[in-house]
Amino acid sequence: MALDLEQADRQALIQLQKVLELERRKGFQDAAASNGLSAFAGERVRRLLPVLDSEGQRILREIDGLLDGYGRMGVENRQRCAEEALRLVSGLVSTARLGERVQAREASAAPRRPENRKPAARRATKAVPPPRGVSSLSDPVTLLPGVGPSRARQLEALGVTTIRDLLYLHPRRYIDYSRIEPISNLVFGRISTIQGTVTAIDQRPTRTGKTLVEVVVSDETGSIRCIFFNPYIERQLGLGSRVSMSGRVEQMRGTLCFKSPEWEELRPDSIHTGRIVPVYPLTRGLPQKTLRGIVRAALDRGLGLVEEYLPQATLKRVTNPPLIPLADALEWMHYPDGETPDEARRRWKLAKSRLAFDEFLSLQLGLLQRKQGWQSEPGIAFEPPEGTVERFVDALPFQLTGAQQRALKDILADMRAPEPMTRLLQGDVGSGKTAVAAAACFVAARCGYQAALMAPTELLAEQHMRSLARLFEGLDEDERPRVALITGSTTGAERREVYAAIASGECDIAVGTQALIQQGVEFHRLGLAIIDEQHRFGVEQRAALRQKGISPDVLVMTATPIPRSLALTLHGDLDVTTLDELPPGRQPIETRWLQGRERLWAYGFVRERVQAGEQAFIVFPLVEESEAVDARAAVDEHIRLSNEIFPDLRLGLLHGRMKPAEKDEVMLAFRDHEIDVLVSTSVVEVGIDVPNATVMLIEGADRFGLAQLHQFRGRVGRGERKSYCLLVTDKVSAEAETRLQAMVDSDDGFRLAQIDLEMRGPGDFLGTRQSGLPEFQLADFADVRDLERARAEAEQILASDPALEKAEHALLRARVERFWRTVERAEVS
Ligand code: ADP
Ligand code: MG
Repeated sequence: MALDLEQADRQALIQLQKVLELERRKGFQDAAASNGLSAFAGERVRRLLPVLDSEGQRILREIDGLLDGYGRMGVENRQRCAEEALRLVSGLVSTARLGERVQAREASAAPRRPENRKPAARRATKAVPPPRGVSSLSDPVTLLPGVGPSRARQLEALGVTTIRDLLYLHPRRYIDYSRIEPISNLVFGRISTIQGTVTAIDQRPTRTGKTLVEVVVSDETGSIRCIFFNPYIERQLGLGSRVSMSGRVEQMRGTLCFKSPEWEELRPDSIHTGRIVPVYPLTRGLPQKTLRGIVRAALDRGLGLVEEYLPQATLKRVTNPPLIPLADALEWMHYPDGETPDEARRRWKLAKSRLAFDEFLSLQLGLLQRKQGWQSEPGIAFEPPEGTVERFVDALPFQLTGAQQRALKDILADMRAPEPMTRLLQGDVGSGKTAVAAAACFVAARCGYQAALMAPTELLAEQHMRSLARLFEGLDEDERPRVALITGSTTGAERREVYAAIASGECDIAVGTQALIQQGVEFHRLGLAIIDEQHRFGVEQRAALRQKGISPDVLVMTATPIPRSLALTLHGDLDVTTLDELPPGRQPIETRWLQGRERLWAYGFVRERVQAGEQAFIVFPLVEESEAVDARAAVDEHIRLSNEIFPDLRLGLLHGRMKPAEKDEVMLAFRDHEIDVLVSTSVVEVGIDVPNATVMLIEGADRFGLAQLHQFRGRVGRGERKSYCLLVTDKVSAEAETRLQAMVDSDDGFRLAQIDLEMRGPGDFLGTRQSGLPEFQLADFADVRDLERARAEAEQILASDPALEKAEHALLRARVERFWRTVERAEVS
């Protein structure tokens, strides 16, 4: 036997020997390794397999097989297995100590031998197909036994094409089948596992024409019937076969039974029964059990190929919780079970935390590198003439709040600096971001540059257009910037004219929708790009606007307050300024949550406010994820409300299916108080400012997310008068109840956003596809600490190696690139 062991690997082997000796001294109580001897040995074996030659591997597998399920064995068996394992390990150690540095010839001649986690046991029960050559995690799933073209297609539907994808296919949940019990101990209603022999099989047709198979399983303590509705079961389960069955104990005709339990042949390396069992997301035609088998096969063959890509320094630096080895994290993510439920939970948490760290780290490295990239290019150092800002401020119809002044200071400092600004201005609805943006635009214009202001909707772009006009009104005419609007509905001659004005520099500020970043829009000298409500834009769209100039300053504005963890994520490439103060004189909005039967009261309240000269919104819920359907619902409600409830009031209707010009008309009519009650779909979420509107009635409020509800509420309370937000719901889920109560209790957008995030989880909240961020599987954005330690680590790494060029960062760089590639895929689809 030829062994070529590196120092560290030899150490790992010796430790295994030591632990086995300790186990013997402690009387085979499975007390030598904190995570159990079986798990400890498993880890060692996985680590050592790739570095041993085939004979060494064979012995390792035998050791692994001997110690598998060690914690569940009786003391006598433990002694026998541990002694034998110790004998084998000692043999390996002494061979290794010979230090014959003979190359493991096979390893170089043939692809690395795939590793089987518990092959010794498996060989005993079933002939294993000869391992096919999985030699890289990027190998296709079809290299796995039992995975042909049609299974591969099913897996593809789950986003799985490679062995790696299977390793990273995270269970949606787990079922705890670890309670293995004698049949006589079974208790009705409990989830249990039994192990025994099939002593009878019987089948009969059911009344509905299906076949019912009754299998009786017996152990020394008794028998139980297991009912299946799958006629093929009879072929799979023979009389006398030893089986393991897991499921909830049910009752039939007065006796206990299992109905369609999970089952498998009894063997030490069970994956469907007798342990904590992973449950994966499925796709049509792919049974859970099959997928579980495929994932297990991928783990068996792939874990040995998993490379630790994190630099040693990172592994050492990051603690609490520590970063466990990647291969362990992947194994435990699928099969966390330890000897106790607590142990399982601990393992699962460690695994999740390690894998989440990986995602966060890649994310932060990417974001920080992007920021580096932008800021490394020379930008514009604006040099506004003396008194420029003062003249703008003096011409405003109001005094800036302290927060606005601070924000403006940050922004001006960025604009003066030669590095391109990449700043986020965040502030709750109504905090006055537009005035700050206008000041920046004015400065840019006075310095001879153009500014662009991009909004997510036409409504909002148009409103910005009007707001700017109002904010610039007090300026001398010769200083007043010339503003133009481009949206999807700017067409024909008008569009050509606007394009020309932008290209010639005749236009100082271009306000618009995404139409601004279309091809054909050429700026004369774009110096400042402002993006409003940016969470609706993709990161890529941001970049596109940036590219319309030569390293322009970029200011991103968002009215959706987001928790710090998300700010670090969505805006990890930005510096952040927060407007944490509302303009004076705003009255708090009173929020009430009403049941459906109080609807008439709510209508009465609306009427009362209208009779007092005020106005109201009535928002209709999303009926489906379809604007067309929503629009119809709002149209119907508009008719019903007009005819039955408010025949004497002036009602208007607004929905996403209307043409921009029509929407505009309705909005203007509402703003000019030609309409008393505006019935709308969620399109009113952003934009229009109507200070005289004091009631926001939201129907089906439970259907909206917190962030959205908060945005709706921000449509009122914009004037001097006291405003109200009425949330009307019929039946609500417990979760919706929490949301609605949060709305009643708090008007702090940041607090609500944090609650929203915790309730909804990252996927929904981020809407990764839209945000231009990679898809996260494990990263838990509610946990700021996780994110912050990844952020800190990313900063550390980049500080010494900005381009990740050092040898110890090669694997890391590849991983970051792979992670961010999912963004490009999302952009294409
Ligand atoms: P945001 O965009 O942050 O939601 P806006 O910029 O639209 O807020 O401002 C909301 C309203 O408050 C607008 O009518 C604006 O004119 C007004 N406003 C902004 N700043 C002030 C201020 N410092 N004092 C009084 N009113 C202000
Ligand atoms: Mg605004």
